[in-house]
Amino acid sequence: MPERMLKFVHLSQQMPDKRDISARRRDFEEIYARFDQKAAAAQASRCSQCGVPFCSVHCPLHNNIPDWLKLTAEGRIEEAYALSSATNNFPEICGRICPQDRLCEGNCVIEKGFESVTIGAIERHITDTAFAEGWVTPRRPARERGISVGIIGAGPAGLAAAEELRARGYTVHVYDRHDRVGGLMIYGIPNFKLEKEIVLRRWRLLEAAGIQFHTNIAIGRDLAFADLRARHAAILIATGVYQPREIGGPGAGLPGIVPALDYLITANRKGLGDAVPDFDSGTLNAAGKRVVVIGGGDTAMDCVRTAVRQGARSVQCLYRRDRANMPGSLREVKNAEEEGVEFLWLSAPEAFLGDDTVSGVRATRMRLGLPDASGRQSVEPIADSHFTVPADLVIKALGFDPEPIPAAFGEPGLEVTRHGTLRIQPRDFMTSLPGVFAAGDIVRGASLVVWAIRDGRDAASRMHAWLEAQAPAREAAE
Ligand code: FAD
Ligand code: SF4
Ligand code: SF4
Repeated sequence: MPERMLKFVHLSQQMPDKRDISARRRDFEEIYARFDQKAAAAQASRCSQCGVPFCSVHCPLHNNIPDWLKLTAEGRIEEAYALSSATNNFPEICGRICPQDRLCEGNCVIEKGFESVTIGAIERHITDTAFAEGWVTPRRPARERGISVGIIGAGPAGLAAAEELRARGYTVHVYDRHDRVGGLMIYGIPNFKLEKEIVLRRWRLLEAAGIQFHTNIAIGRDLAFADLRARHAAILIATGVYQPREIGGPGAGLPGIVPALDYLITANRKGLGDAVPDFDSGTLNAAGKRVVVIGGGDTAMDCVRTAVRQGARSVQCLYRRDRANMPGSLREVKNAEEEGVEFLWLSAPEAFLGDDTVSGVRATRMRLGLPDASGRQSVEPIADSHFTVPADLVIKALGFDPEPIPAAFGEPGLEVTRHGTLRIQPRDFMTSLPGVFAAGDIVRGASLVVWAIRDGRDAASRMHAWLEAQAPAREAAE
């Protein structure tokens, strides 16, 4: 058993300090302070170096957590960074926004009665230090292969795949319909969880590695998918899921009822310094308004906390299940409550009130019923339990479905599942079209950044294997 570890017995768990609530409510800066090396080393030394580390088993990237914790405890941060970045393309991002309570930290078996090691905050500390010290460099290949691959979508799945393929010597082109790279990391997730400069810094590094980005190009609209296939030896589709789930009921079409992602993209663009008429006109700005957000996932939490920061008069969140059964991270609920958000649990909207614009939500109280086939408790309305919540802005955050990719790409041969996600061969990540691969949310459905990174890495290695296998045919054709 290594020395200097096992300090959990007399050293309690300490998260990085959170900023003062009244300051947090007024700006969009990240809410957690950073560990200094002394605090990071002390917290890392609480790890008991398990023989079977369940933290790693439950990290989608199977990060080598105990080893980099030990190196951190010993002050060997450059080595810790080398180890942590070997399995994760964006460890500073995962350290900030993974729901650690459900993944690595939630499975830390330090010892019953002791709180988990603060794995995410230490992962972030290692990589933030590496950037500050200049240890993070572009991964340029040792030799060029002269084989071109095209990636559609510059979210975490597309970017992780791009970095891995570039490091193997491919000429990599990434296409995105947005003007900036990062996918939901740039335009979905708010700055107070993930500062935009952290994503932009990765974009610069990937460019410096030689990856060629083509922004403001929507495949299927500005460039035909068939043309893209003709340009590249292989294609990866990593376009995410963006079709918002709709809400029905009387008044659902009233002005003032807006989709969550429109609202968050506008807020993020404003923070990035862009001109955003919908914000300036007030359409997608919560300032001075009574805001009601409908939903219980991470997107809903991001909306309520953004509304607080924009100076809403009140912010309420309507969710049809209870706190224990919500899909979002409980850590984010706690942060939202601290910042003044009111949660109306077991409440579902049934109609929207108002003449020219929304003025309220009529809701019904719900109760939890028996578990369904998935094991999740069903919900049912309680008779005669209606109530009205006044609202000037209602934000719908009910989740996302895939856009119809085969139609958008003019490629009916691209098979989808019954959920509309792209069908792939699980072992080789290839779609029904030869040489066309897919990864991330467009395959999994709405998921997490860390899973998108994992899929991007796996897809890159399968694309490489497939391209290697095609080499004789390619050479014969030349
Ligand atoms: P995306 O990140 O969606 O990227 C897809 C990219 O493809 C986009 O840039 C899009 O512009 C581009 N694209 C789409 N169609 C085309 C086309 N036809 N042509 C060209 N480009 C196209 N996960 C966490 O782990 N932690 C969190 O805290 C968290 N918070 C979230 C908050 C919000 C509001 C949302 C919506 C999601 C959140 N997630 C979070 C989930 C996470 O962001 C996603 O699971 C992840 O980004 C998926 O990665 P991806 O690469 O598959 O897709
Ligand atoms: Fe935990 Fe996410 Fe880091 Fe894995 S990538 S160790 S789940 S914070
Ligand atoms: Fe350390 Fe906890 Fe992982 Fe065990 S499960 S190796 S104690 S971080």
